[in-house]
Amino acid sequence: MNLQCAECGAVYPLNTRAWVCETCGGVLEIIGAPSFDAARIARADSSLWRYRAFMPLPAQAPPISLGEGWTPLTPIQYDNREIFCKLDFLNPTGSFKDRGTTVLTSAVKAFGYTRVIEDSSGNAAAALAGYAAFANLRATIFTPAHASPMKLAQIQAYGAELEKIEGVRENAAAAAQQAVKQADAYYASHYYNPFFLAGLQTTAWEIWEQLGRAPDIMIAPAGHGTNLVGLYRGFRALRDAGLIAKIPRMVAAQSAVVAPLALAYARGAAAPARVEPAKTIAEGIANSQPLHGRASLRLIRETGGAALAASEDEIRAARSKLARHGLYVEPTSATAIAVLEKIIASTHASETIVVSLTGSGLKAL
Ligand SMILES: [Zn+2]
Repeated sequence: MNLQCAECGAVYPLNTRAWVCETCGGVLEIIGAPSFDAARIARADSSLWRYRAFMPLPAQAPPISLGEGWTPLTPIQYDNREIFCKLDFLNPTGSFKDRGTTVLTSAVKAFGYTRVIEDSSGNAAAALAGYAAFANLRATIFTPAHASPMKLAQIQAYGAELEKIEGVRENAAAAAQQAVKQADAYYASHYYNPFFLAGLQTTAWEIWEQLGRAPDIMIAPAGHGTNLVGLYRGFRALRDAGLIAKIPRMVAAQSAVVAPLALAYARGAAAPARVEPAKTIAEGIANSQPLHGRASLRLIRETGGAALAASEDEIRAARSKLARHGLYVEPTSATAIAVLEKIIASTHASETIVVSLTGSGLKAL
C-alpha cells in the first residue's frame, strides 16, 4: 500500500507526514488496499474492527479501539412510513467521527508518531482528543474561538491542548497546518487524512449486514463531504464484490445558511458554489469550502441522489420531531431529517431509506 495524489499521481509512503501532494496540492488517497471480502468479516467482533482483515493499515498495526462502530440500525415510523436510523451518535465520544479516528489513530501509533495536531470546531476534535488520551498521544487542537462551549469542555476533559483562534473556521486550519510544519507532529485532519476516510466506509458495510441488503436511499449531513464519500466508497466496495446490485441514491443534507453543495446541485455545477462563511445551528457542517465538494457532487449525480438544504427553523423542528420518536441528536444531524421531510413524499413506499444520525443531542443546547 502507498498514498497517491488524486490529481497528479505522485506516490508517497504510507507514513508520510504530508497531508496534501507536495508538488500540486492534491488530496492523497490510499492505493493497493485490500478488497472487501465478506468471508473475512470477524462476525464475533461487535465493533467496526470486524472488518480489520481488509482495513487499509500496515499488517502489524494493532487496533486502537474504544469499541466504536456496529451501532444500532433502528427502524422508526416517521409520518406513517418506516425509515431506518443509523445511530452513529452512540459511538464512544458521541459522534460518527470515532469511525475515522480509530483507524487514523491506529495508523499513527503503527508509524511511531507521538504527537497529533488537528483543527476542528467540535466532534472530530473531541474524537481525536479521546482516542489520543486512550493511546497516550499528545494532542493539540486548534479551534475557532467561538466554538460550542460543550464541545470545548469535552475536548479539554480528555486532556488535549486547546488553541483558540480568532476569526472564521479557516483561520484555525491555517494555524494548525503552521504548527504541524514547526513541530514534529502528524496532521490528524478529519478531512484531509485518508485513513480517517477509510474508517468511514464501515458505516455502509454495517448497514448492509444489518439490513441484509443495501438501502435504496441514503441521507447524510454534508459539510466537507467526508461522511458522504465514506458511505459511497463503502457501498461501492460492496458492489465491486458482487454483494449488492447498485449503490444507494446518496442524498446530502446541508444548512441553507452554508449550502455550497445544495446550490451547486440545483445549478447543475460540478464545483461547490462560492458561499461566505457563516454561523448556523448545524455547526458541524458549516463548511463554506468543502474539501470533498467535487467528489460529493460527482457521486450524488452518479447515484441519482440529491443535495438539499434546510432552513434553521426546519432543522430545529426536525430535531424536536425526531426526539418525539425517542432519538435525541444535535442540530447538525437533524439536518438530515429536515431533508428527509423534503423528499419523503416523492419516494416509493417500497423503497428503503436510511438516515445517518451523526452526533449526540447531549453535545448541543
Ligand atoms: Zn499531486
